[in-house]
Amino acid sequence: MKGYEKICIVCPIGCKLTIKEDPKSDDGYIVEGNNCPRGEIYGKKEVTNPTRVLTTTAKIVGAHLNRIPVISNDGLPKDKLFKCMEIINSLEVSAPIKLGDVVVENIMGTGVDIVASRSMEKY
Ligand code: SF4
Repeated sequence: MKGYEKICIVCPIGCKLTIKEDPKSDDGYIVEGNNCPRGEIYGKKEVTNPTRVLTTTAKIVGAHLNRIPVISNDGLPKDKLFKCMEIINSLEVSAPIKLGDVVVENIMGTGVDIVASRSMEKY
């Protein structure tokens, strides 16, 4: 039976998870070492479709700063993070921008948007 060791990053406790293949369970895996149900969800997702929320900055013109912080509004597949960063690095958005404005819609067809994580007025 194949097993994986992962640290749960959902909360600061950081439980050490063991995720094992289990053909008898509904979704094919069992998780041990989690102190709460969120760890089970995280552990199964981590071995089937690992994702991360992406936080970075994008170029902005017409504002008092030249970069604006942006964040993905959901987890992005880990194997697409570098390509997503390239897309964001090639962006140039214009002020004014409001907190939550979408700067890239449905990035790489993931269904996840990149949104501004602060407002910036026109300068
Ligand atoms: S399993 Fe629960 S308690 Fe443990 S780190 Fe994950 S979220 Fe926190």
